[in-house]
Amino acid sequence: MTALETLKRYFGYDSFRSGQETLIDGVLARKDVLGVMPTGAGKSVCFQIPALMMNGIAIIISPLISLMKDQVNALTQSGIPAAFINSSLSGWQIDKVLQKAQSGAYKLLYVAPERLLSSDFLHFAQTAEISMLSVDEAHCISQWGQDFRPSYSKIPEFVANLPNRPVLSAFTATATSKVREDIAALLELKEPVILITGFDRKNLYYEVQKPKDKYAALTAFLKDKKERSGIIYSSTRATVEEVCERLKADGHNSSRYHAGLSDKERHDNQDDFLYDRAQIMVATNAFGMGIDKSNVSFVVHYNMPKDMESYYQEAGRAGRDGEPADCVLLYSGQDVRTNLWLIENNQEAQYPDKETEELLKERDRKRLREITFYCATNDCLRGYILKYFGEKPPNHCGNCSSCNTNFETVDITLEAQKILSCVARMRERYGMKMLTDVLRGSKSEKVLRLGLDKLSTYGISEKSEKQLYEIINQLILTGYLLKTDDEYPVIKLGERANEVLRHSETVQMKLSKEKQRQEAVEKKQFVVRQIDGKLFTALRELRLAIASEQNVPAFVIFPDSALIDMCAKLPATNEEFLKVSGVGQVKLERYGERFLKVIAEFESSD
Ligand code: ADP
Ligand code: ZN
Repeated sequence: MTALETLKRYFGYDSFRSGQETLIDGVLARKDVLGVMPTGAGKSVCFQIPALMMNGIAIIISPLISLMKDQVNALTQSGIPAAFINSSLSGWQIDKVLQKAQSGAYKLLYVAPERLLSSDFLHFAQTAEISMLSVDEAHCISQWGQDFRPSYSKIPEFVANLPNRPVLSAFTATATSKVREDIAALLELKEPVILITGFDRKNLYYEVQKPKDKYAALTAFLKDKKERSGIIYSSTRATVEEVCERLKADGHNSSRYHAGLSDKERHDNQDDFLYDRAQIMVATNAFGMGIDKSNVSFVVHYNMPKDMESYYQEAGRAGRDGEPADCVLLYSGQDVRTNLWLIENNQEAQYPDKETEELLKERDRKRLREITFYCATNDCLRGYILKYFGEKPPNHCGNCSSCNTNFETVDITLEAQKILSCVARMRERYGMKMLTDVLRGSKSEKVLRLGLDKLSTYGISEKSEKQLYEIINQLILTGYLLKTDDEYPVIKLGERANEVLRHSETVQMKLSKEKQRQEAVEKKQFVVRQIDGKLFTALRELRLAIASEQNVPAFVIFPDSALIDMCAKLPATNEEFLKVSGVGQVKLERYGERFLKVIAEFESSD
């Protein structure tokens, strides 16, 4: 069987995704490989297919118990013999797994890195025929990475203890060039085939909103998300509680997750979400590590997170199945203040000395500024993200709220001059609200009391408050103005202010004409298929029933993408069912009949 035939037979997919074949061919040619691919790109297949095609057993090193469990579940569902060894098993259970592995019962064995050098495991590894050693989440080996795991450093010692060196493959979603070099060097990869597919997650739609009422914006967004799984991230426990309660009261099937809950409740709630018993998870950033749920179709940030790294990682939990998914960030100025407070009052951080403390805090403030710019920019959001991570950005991606908003480029030189000179006249001492009040000639008590109505720039602008906010934000973004990082931020003149004030340089700006998502633009990229909601619901219910019978998460039975493809193709025979994306031989045998029956009933009902 070729690699492509193996993909079709076991996983039910017709073609490889970008990069997969290169890595698989590399391993099959017995070359070490390193794959850097974004979440959801399909890294697992890159070691699972060679594991199936080679003689012996593949050892997969994985850092998280939940990931191992899900992957082994999913493999078993597809008829691939696999098992895991980690601290969730008793000594007796581990012996049994090793015995079966020894007798050749599995093609893949997942193991936590801590286990490698234990005498039982080493003995097994020294006597078994090992086809390949695969390191998942390989960035854990680097001290430069975000989640350094000292036990990953033991991998080379483990390899050195084997009678024959197996081919090594390593995979990660997050690796700067420094971390990449670390991985190759520390794992002692031999002239590896390195494949980097970049940070772009094409199926994710990025949007930033600056709503007056966040909850109203959230419920408006949720309106057409019935039956869809999603996560709502919020920065505090109190907001998690509040949003979750309100959603429940409004008839949404939501659950909650934060560090203040008991272990049991956290565990139960997480399972409810994984097993599709709860549709929406409202959570702090404590939620998500190791959540490998593939059918999360939206991630809403109720608050702006502390930096782009966190945002990319959290938003990236959407759309792992490759289906179109939404990542929406609800921004408010208060989010900046909350984050600044958190930087100042970071309880967890321990600094060796005052100097390092100030250095690290300044780094954090800089990161915060960068995500604040993300929220304010009218340029392509995907472009901003890619540029941030050092990739060449597109000018126009056609799948973000900036690209899909009608902007017009306007000359705002005059308005900029008014604003800048007003900031100067106000002696750079006031915040956004006061600045716009003075520009618009407000008669508020505070303005009058401070005598700001006497300034020559009092009341010189005819713009609305909202328009002024937009222009001022753009002036901050482009360096004409500057907003301080204090608890009560003050607007000052930026480095480029003189260009406008003295040399009357023209200032151009992209301003929104109408804030409307152009569905047409979106459809150009993703052919959103017309599927019948009723059938989709029926198939989902069947999937949930099967998942409960077997006590596995629903997406392990079939990903959403497979159900959607069933709705589109409406298969009537086994042969047609096999053509559905995500249906392999074993799944046909196991579930074909039940799904075909539901589809047939639906077909005859109208
Ligand atoms: P990663 O580990 O890179 O985050 P996964 O290996 O979990 O991604 O794969 C994400 C999803 O993509 C899974 O549902 C998987 O079955 C699916 N997938 C992988 N390869 C293909 C392919 N060639 N065609 C279609 N779907 C695929
Ligand atoms: Zn864009």
